[in-house]
Amino acid sequence: MTQLESRGLSCLGCTGVCCTDVANSMMVTPIEIVDLFSYLLKSKADLQSLNEKMMVSVIKYKLDILPPGIKKKSQFRRTYTCPFFLGSEFGCPLPRDIKPYGCLGFNRQKNENNIDNDCWSKKEILESQSKANNEAELNIWIKTELNLDWDKEYLPLAVIHFIHLFGIDDNSFENFLQRARLFAPHPLD
Ligand code: SF4
Ligand code: SF4
Repeated sequence: MTQLESRGLSCLGCTGVCCTDVANSMMVTPIEIVDLFSYLLKSKADLQSLNEKMMVSVIKYKLDILPPGIKKKSQFRRTYTCPFFLGSEFGCPLPRDIKPYGCLGFNRQKNENNIDNDCWSKKEILESQSKANNEAELNIWIKTELNLDWDKEYLPLAVIHFIHLFGIDDNSFENFLQRARLFAPHPLD
C-alpha cells in the first residue's frame, strides 16, 4: 500500500466503495478470524451488540443463503457492506495488522478516476504472503480443533460463529490460543 501511495495511487477522495455492497464480498480464513476475534476481546468490544450488528448484515445481504441452483458458497459471492465500515469519513476502524488479507490486498492500482476499473486485488501477493507464513497447516489445525465446516466465510458470519463458540469467556479463547501457539508460534503471536 505504501508503495502504491508513493506512486500517487491512494484512496484519498474515495468513499470506500470496496467496503460496501458495491464491491465488497470479502471472506476470511480461520486464521484471520482468530486474529480479529483476539483483537476484539483485547479491545473489550461489546460482543452482544457486535453479534446483533453482524446478524443485521447477514439477514440484509442473505449471507447465509445460497441462491437457487448454487450448491457451494465458492460458486457464488454475495456483496455486502462490511459491518465494521464507519462510512466514507472514518473508513475501517481495524488496525492494519488485524485486517484480513482480502482488505489489505485490494488497492487502487490505476488513477483514471474510474473506481470500477482502477482498483483490484493482487491475489498473487496475498497467496505468497500466506505461504510465507505457512498458514495452510494452521488453518487446517484451527478448522479441525474448532470443528469449523468452512475454509472461508463471510466476515459477519465468521464473527458470529466465534462469538457463539467462545462467548465472553476470555479464558476459553486464551486456552485455545495457547494450544494454537504450540502448534505454530507464527502468525498468531
Ligand atoms: S481501494 Fe479503491 S475502492 Fe477501495 S477505498 Fe481505495 S480507492 Fe476506494
Ligand atoms: S474489515 Fe475494514 S477494510 Fe475490510 S471490508 Fe471491513 S471495513 Fe473494509
